[in-house]
Amino acid sequence: MTRIYLSPPHMSPDERLLLLDAFDSNWIAPLGPHVDAFEREMVTYLMDGQAAARTGGELHALALSSGTSALHLALIELGVGPGDRVLCSSLTFSASANVIRYVGAEPVFVDTALSSWNLDPVLVAEELETGAREGKRYKAVIAVDLYGDPADLEPIRADCQRYGAALIEDAAEAAGSSYRDRKCGTMGDLSVLSFNGNKILTTAGGGMLLSANERWIDHARKLSTQAREPAPHYQHQEIGYNYRLSNLLAAVGRGQLRWLDERIARKYRIRAFYEGALSGLPGVSFLPLPAFGRSNCWLTCIQVDPAAFGATREDIRLHLESLDIEARPVWKPMHMQPVFRECRVIGGAVSEDLFERGLCLPSGSSLTDADLDRVLHAVTDVIARHRG
Ligand SMILES: *Cc1c(COP(=O)(O)O)cnc(C)c1O
Repeated sequence: MTRIYLSPPHMSPDERLLLLDAFDSNWIAPLGPHVDAFEREMVTYLMDGQAAARTGGELHALALSSGTSALHLALIELGVGPGDRVLCSSLTFSASANVIRYVGAEPVFVDTALSSWNLDPVLVAEELETGAREGKRYKAVIAVDLYGDPADLEPIRADCQRYGAALIEDAAEAAGSSYRDRKCGTMGDLSVLSFNGNKILTTAGGGMLLSANERWIDHARKLSTQAREPAPHYQHQEIGYNYRLSNLLAAVGRGQLRWLDERIARKYRIRAFYEGALSGLPGVSFLPLPAFGRSNCWLTCIQVDPAAFGATREDIRLHLESLDIEARPVWKPMHMQPVFRECRVIGGAVSEDLFERGLCLPSGSSLTDADLDRVLHAVTDVIARHRG
């Protein structure tokens, strides 16, 4: 039997044809027609059915080498630097927080709301208010759409506006998700997508920075190409980065985007399968579907109460691993990471508990029904073993 991965890439024939086209055109460079087309097509996808007026104008996109580089450039465009403080979800992948350190600023972590596993808007509002009162205003808030579930972005955005902080939407995991009637990746002053290897839309590695503010995107474009000034020789006035997306990879991304809605539909069926089969078990609950939007169901996650279930999430994970099935604990909160040991955290108990009990199940859109049965039997096996 072959290994079942958490969320492997899922290619259609389109990606291969577009990649060959890019290859044959000899645009083997971090720029080219596929990069431009990928940006355009992503904007069309994200803005589909949305009145530009509602999103505060048009949307502009910059294709980059990773979601991390997009987050880094977002902070640079906002002028975040040494001495500044940035609020960030604690329950996230490390890249959301690392970039705060790249620019020399101080991360302050915020716990999640149990109802969404995302940034708790009440704690955010309180902390922004406290910061303003103490004369230590926050420069930005990084809100993550965890596992494809949108954070409750509207109240967070309103409080950001009220206290003069910019909102960065880290929609790295949420390509194709929506918050109310708007797509994730359009909700921040600057927003970020990732196309890493295990994300729902992959280019092997890649990312995108999005904003209604064309000035920021234009300037980030310049920084991402070594900050070259318009001159025949190489002239530099600012420190630049080598952050652009390869034309070959953008071609793959265009193919992936054509199939994104189909992949999401399959992810919903996978989630529904797990929910139908497992939610009746004692002590098992699911990452709630968001009340204020539509998830892309990137990963189906469960919470396991060991007292009721009879085994821990780690018992389940190890048993699946012994059967060559990859499952993964929910993200370890940033405030528990040694590297961020000295950072402040607002709350923290909810995300600590989710880490302790949470498990991401194999959720690749290419999984067959037989694969899913294999996972299911492996999970129910654990109960039999621990009770027997
Ligand atoms: C994957 C991910 C990133 C980083 O994206 P890369 O493309 O891997 O650099 C950032 N934030 C979150 C929440 C992610 O899941």
